[in-house]
Amino acid sequence: MENKEHIPTLAIVVPCYNEHEALPVSVPVILKLLDKMEREEIVSPNSYILLSDDGSTDNTWLIIQKLNEMDKRVRGISLSKNRGQQMAMLAAMERAYKSADCVVTIDSDLQDDPEAIIKMVNDYSSGSDIVFGVRESRDEDSWMKKHTAWAFYKTQQKLGLETVFDHSEFRLMSSKAIGMLLQYGESNFFMRGLVLQLGLKTSIVKFKRTSRVAGQTKYSFSKLASLSIDGVTSFTAKPMRYIFYTGVLCLILDILAAVYVIISMTMQQNVRGWASLFLSIWFFGSIILMGLGIVGEYIGKIFVEVKNRPKYFVDKEVGF
Ligand code: UDP
Ligand code: MG
Repeated sequence: MENKEHIPTLAIVVPCYNEHEALPVSVPVILKLLDKMEREEIVSPNSYILLSDDGSTDNTWLIIQKLNEMDKRVRGISLSKNRGQQMAMLAAMERAYKSADCVVTIDSDLQDDPEAIIKMVNDYSSGSDIVFGVRESRDEDSWMKKHTAWAFYKTQQKLGLETVFDHSEFRLMSSKAIGMLLQYGESNFFMRGLVLQLGLKTSIVKFKRTSRVAGQTKYSFSKLASLSIDGVTSFTAKPMRYIFYTGVLCLILDILAAVYVIISMTMQQNVRGWASLFLSIWFFGSIILMGLGIVGEYIGKIFVEVKNRPKYFVDKEVGF
């Protein structure tokens, strides 16, 4: 399957969580694109769409079955429980990589431009194992979302997590790359970071991100924040080092303060200043709590990894 001379078989993996509004709109669009790519011999006629139902509580699975009846190129799997977008994608990629030469992951709301898939496959055919979809503008995102997203990317980079700027989960991976990725056994799976660890040839395709075709975002602010913290803590222990540095800084400040206290004592000034005492207790208390929180975050990660639990269960499937 590594022979890139022949026309590649493409699997388009779509994670779906409560997307019964979006799927009837987005799947026909993707199918049309597949038609075009087949006609132009960019991908083989065996190419297909794999919808990965991430334990939805609405009619998503029913719609996936209907779509499969209408077009056999639509396949589906269903996770037994909501495990998050990363796991929904991983489960489907694990399914797809043996029967496809390359896999593209794309959101079900078509905010990522499906047309960019053509360029991705072309990049694959000219030798890239991983092609990152990078958005050109964020005009459609709210001011808040745009700036928090940038702040996340920047902080992550500062904290030592290597990622591609303005790239989320719209990506092509060769079956070779997926085979390698699957060897990472960790439960805390941050795919965007892991794919850069593989050391394979990568490239970038730019696209314009648009608004959702239907439905609401499935990411709350807290879900986004937790994804970002997971990303950092599963890749680097740098935040721990920053705690240590903060501790050292506090110690130096403390010594300076002690010098000041001793001098003022010898000058027999009145000890008033309960306010500064009060403030400093709060200050150091909060730093200690923050430090404990970060340490706890890492210990929690170890706890989860040590148990080595299965990441997901595929409960149902259609079209295989
Ligand atoms: N998604 C998922 N599981 C989840 C949350 C989201 O599979 O727990 C899917 C969702 O159905 C969509 C994609 O991940 O296809 C991206 O989600 P969304 O569009 O809501 O995120 P946003 O674009 O708002 O960041
Ligand atoms: Mg979206």
